[in-house]
Amino acid sequence: MHQMTLAEIARGLADKKFSSEELTKVLLARIAQLDPQLNSFISLTEDLALQQAKAADARRANGESGALLGAPIAHKDLFCTQGIRTSCGSKMLDNFKAPYDATVVAKLAAAGAVTLGKTNMDEFAMGSANESSYYGAVKNPWNLEHVPGGSSGGSAAAVAARLLPAATATDTGGSIRQPAAFTNLTGLKPTYGRVSRWGMIAYASSLDQGGPLARTAEDCAILLQGMAGFDANDSTSIDEPVPDYSASLNSSLQGLRIGVPKEYFSAGLDPRIAELIHNSIKALEKLGAVIKEISLPNMQHAIPAYYVIAPAEASSNLSRFDGVRFGYRCEEPKNLIDLYKRSRGEGFGPEVQRRIMVGAYALSAGYYDAYYLKAQKIRRLVKNDFMAAFNEVDIILGPTTPNPAWKLGAKNSDPVAAYLEDVYTITANLAGLPGLSMPAGFVDGLPVGVQLLAPYFQEGRLLNVAHQYQLNTDWHTRTPTGF
Ligand code: GLN
Repeated sequence: MHQMTLAEIARGLADKKFSSEELTKVLLARIAQLDPQLNSFISLTEDLALQQAKAADARRANGESGALLGAPIAHKDLFCTQGIRTSCGSKMLDNFKAPYDATVVAKLAAAGAVTLGKTNMDEFAMGSANESSYYGAVKNPWNLEHVPGGSSGGSAAAVAARLLPAATATDTGGSIRQPAAFTNLTGLKPTYGRVSRWGMIAYASSLDQGGPLARTAEDCAILLQGMAGFDANDSTSIDEPVPDYSASLNSSLQGLRIGVPKEYFSAGLDPRIAELIHNSIKALEKLGAVIKEISLPNMQHAIPAYYVIAPAEASSNLSRFDGVRFGYRCEEPKNLIDLYKRSRGEGFGPEVQRRIMVGAYALSAGYYDAYYLKAQKIRRLVKNDFMAAFNEVDIILGPTTPNPAWKLGAKNSDPVAAYLEDVYTITANLAGLPGLSMPAGFVDGLPVGVQLLAPYFQEGRLLNVAHQYQLNTDWHTRTPTGF
């Protein structure tokens, strides 16, 4: 049962082969048995899950249908869930029970999805390895000595290990696509503004975007359908109709123009990954796509720009965690300043503190023009590169990451080494574009992802290309040994 995709579950439930309650019990038992090896969950919500599953079964018995009605999922632990701990992977929010549901959570619940729990993540979504979580590192089911990627490492490990078919995640600089690549999943970061950020604890508000992590493009289409749409509560939500993502999966790729940026194949890329990416290009050519070399000349400036803008926004967003209103409060503060200092000093982990310091520095008088403003100018140049490229091509293709998943602890002493691994993913966030990662093969037994980028609001095109690719390849069907 645990091998089923969301699409297969929807068919099985519709055909009354099993009930949502039965499936939920099977998956909860599987989580209890296997998750101790992975640490992919921060909280389990068994009671809620069984209650939602029974309600979904009752709705089906009353003649209702829907791809998500009775489908088990989990939420990254930065989506607020009413009455349930929403920790953001931090000691700061270990005691925080959200007073309301995030829009994404409410929408999926209304569609009948069943929440099994809240998944582990890098603290405040800062990281690429899921090692900065207050609740401990998550292990990659493909090799338990390696990281699953981050910051959505818990969602990725759980779905890859078949503990559940799909999960929500967020992507500020790659945190959906990179863990998808590291665990052999399909993950989609939507256009900025496509999925509501209301109730999604902010890291860098102008870059953050929620999206689906699943095993197939078909399942990403189903989950995205339930997440996307205008929300008046999010001032950057865009009032654009949501297309039927499943309806466009089978369009032909004949004549599709795929741009391959020459900058993506530079020295930093593992040559074995380059070879797998070229294989996926050949597979798409066979389906009728036309390949064109393009250039994104400002890509080299993206990492420094991102690592100024994201910490700058984080330093501002995280100022609300002051020990006064909610979250962690230090013991016996001497006065107000001591309360602020110790609550924040004890509540935030080292990576979060580092970023608050960097961000506050970049925004301070005298340095603002040199760093923050400069980074914003680079951001515009990165966007302009994409706009020029999309005049010539329909999709941009390249590797998702320069290397496969590294060993646990390998980059702990050198944060910049980890930042450099984000080179292919952060440009989509800077420009606000949608991006998808899908399985492209293995290097030393570890999964490799191929990334597709599309113009604004062309999530349907990304899912269509990925689905056609998956009909003609079988990388996405591979299961990690032991799971
Ligand atoms: N690795 C990037 C960072 O640490 C991206 C994280 C994310 O997308 N949430 O900022």
